[in-house]
Amino acid sequence: MLVMEIKNITGTLRFKKEPNQLVRIMDSLEEKSFACPLTQLDRNVDGIKNLFPNTKIPIIQALVFPSQNTIIEDAPTNHHIFFAKQVPLFIQSLNNQTSILSDNQFNQMANQFMKMNNNFTTTPLCEHMKINSEILKKGVLCKNCNSKLQRKSLQTWFCKVCFTTEKNPIPSNIEDLFLLIKQELSIKDCMHYLEINSRYTIYNSLQKMKVGKSGYKKSTKYKILH
Ligand SMILES: [Zn+2]
Repeated sequence: MLVMEIKNITGTLRFKKEPNQLVRIMDSLEEKSFACPLTQLDRNVDGIKNLFPNTKIPIIQALVFPSQNTIIEDAPTNHHIFFAKQVPLFIQSLNNQTSILSDNQFNQMANQFMKMNNNFTTTPLCEHMKINSEILKKGVLCKNCNSKLQRKSLQTWFCKVCFTTEKNPIPSNIEDLFLLIKQELSIKDCMHYLEINSRYTIYNSLQKMKVGKSGYKKSTKYKILH
């Protein structure tokens, strides 16, 4: 298995040790440092080993720089570090090695990988803990003390308990509904739980959030995108 880390950084790059770092030398005086891509690669390989603890397949790692104009200094010799143009030849040399998996085993592993590549979805807590969502406190709540906020103006809300003023707390309150109540919410659901009687206010807040949409008109459901 080949794990590649592609780093699109140009200029003169120098590897430094202890702590591991990659430094770009901009001109004679200025330097910019990056987290070491080799450490990143090691971490990724470790993650893959944890996903397939019993696999005997060797995992080969390579750090690739797409631009031939990059100048690399002090490259560690215990890692494969290439320019993009060298990659095809390297893959060819790996293909010459004896295969360890049968076609069937290979396909099974590939399928397992594809299944893992789904979007991460969390089960809302009410569903997970079998709690009736109607018993939750309704309204737009204060992020500090969870008391009901009072609207002062179009955007500004105030907490009478901890005296916090919040600017536009509706999106974060809608996010909480996704975590607590349902993966898919309609505008009506949000109006109900946040005790807001304007469809437009909810609609407007949802437009500013990272949400996906399904359905049509009043039956439109929104889903938070992670
Ligand atoms: Zn408060």
